[in-house]
Amino acid sequence: MTIELSDRVKTVPPSGIRRFFEIAEERDDVISLGVGEPDFSTPWAARDAAITSLEQGKTSYTANKGKRELREAIAGYVADRFDLGYDPGEEIIVTAGASEAVDLAFRALVDPGDTVAIAQPSYISYEPGVIFAGGEVCPVPTKEEDEFRLTVDGLEDAGAADADLLVFCYPNNPTGAIMRESDLEPIAAFAREHDLTVLSDEIYAELTYDGEHTSIATLPGMRERTIVFNGFSKAHAMTGLRLGYALGPADVVGAMNRIHQYTMLSAPTTAQYAALEALDSCEDDVREMIDQYDRRRRFVLSRFREIGMDVFEAKGAFYCFPEVPSGWTAEEFAETVLREQGVAVVPGDVFGEGGEGHLRVSYATSLGDLREALTRIEAFLEEQA
Ligand code: PMP
Repeated sequence: MTIELSDRVKTVPPSGIRRFFEIAEERDDVISLGVGEPDFSTPWAARDAAITSLEQGKTSYTANKGKRELREAIAGYVADRFDLGYDPGEEIIVTAGASEAVDLAFRALVDPGDTVAIAQPSYISYEPGVIFAGGEVCPVPTKEEDEFRLTVDGLEDAGAADADLLVFCYPNNPTGAIMRESDLEPIAAFAREHDLTVLSDEIYAELTYDGEHTSIATLPGMRERTIVFNGFSKAHAMTGLRLGYALGPADVVGAMNRIHQYTMLSAPTTAQYAALEALDSCEDDVREMIDQYDRRRRFVLSRFREIGMDVFEAKGAFYCFPEVPSGWTAEEFAETVLREQGVAVVPGDVFGEGGEGHLRVSYATSLGDLREALTRIEAFLEEQA
C-alpha cells in the first residue's frame, strides 16, 4: 500500500542544494562555501544565559507570542538600530526562526489563487511557502546590471501590479545586494499604488557593509502594509537555537499568532533566554563578527576579480555572486569544481529567475579556507584554459 501524498507537497521539488552535499560527501577534503550559516559560535554571554535558564529549570512554554521581556527588548532593538517602532504587546511575534515567521505570514495572508510576487534570485523557502499556503508565485527577476536591486521596471515586466503580496529580502541571499532608501522609495510607491502587502525579510539587516540598512517599513505609508522578518540566526550566530520574529500591524500579527498558537505554541524557551541576553550584552560580539565578514567579503571579491571571474560588488549578508566563465552552465561549473577541486559552491539557478550563470559563494567561513578555496578555483580555471 502507498499512502497518497497531498498535491501541494508533490508539486514542490526537493531542495536543489541537497545534491551537492551528496557529492561533497564523496571527498574528505571539501571546502564548503555552500552553506548559509555563520561559522562563528553563539556569543558566550548568550550561551551562558541559555545554560543558566536550564539550570534554573526554566523549561516551560512561554506566552504564545514569546516572553514579554524579549518582545520588549526586540522593540527597543529595532527602534534603536532601524528606526522601527512596534508595540511589544500587539505588533511583535517571536517564532521558531525567521522561517516560521515567513511561513505564518503566508498562511495568514494567502488565499487559494492569490498571487505572491517574489523578487528573485531569492532564498529558497519563499516559493514552497507560497505553494503550501495555496498561492501562486509570480517571479520577479532582478538583474546584475541593476546590482540585483528590485526595480519598478522589473515589477511591471513581471506583472507584479496584479499580485496580492510582494516578498523581497535585502541584504539579499544569494546575491549580497542591498537596497538603499532611494532604491526602496519607488518600490514603496508601486506597492501603495497597486495595493500590495509587502513581506520584507531583513534577517541580514545587521550585515550591511556600506552605510546603514533601511527598512521599507520606515517609508511613508508603508508601516501599515508591511510585515518585517528578522531573527537571531545570522548576526548573532544562533542558527540552531531557532529564534526569529516578525513585526507588523496588530491584526496581521494577531492572525499569525492564531496559527502559531495551534502549530507551535511558543518558540523555544531556552533560545528566548539566549536571545534576551544577545540583545542585552552581545553588541560587541556582533560588531566583531561583522568586521570579520567584511574583511572576508573584500578578500573574496578581489580574489575573484584577480583570477578573472566577474563579480558584482556585494555589500550585504555573507554571500557573493560571481558569474561562471563562458562555456559553462552554473550547474556544470559547480559540479565540476566540486568533483575536481573539492570546493562546494551553489549554482545560482537554485535561487530562481535571474540566478542563471552565477554561483552563490558564502564567505561565512575562515579566511584560511577562503584563501585555499580561491587558490583551488584558480588552479581549476588554469587547467581549463
Ligand atoms: N531568510 C533568509 C533570507 C535566509 O537566508 C534564512 C536562512 N538561510 C532565513 C530566512 C531563515 O532563517 P532562520 O534560521 O531564522 O529560520
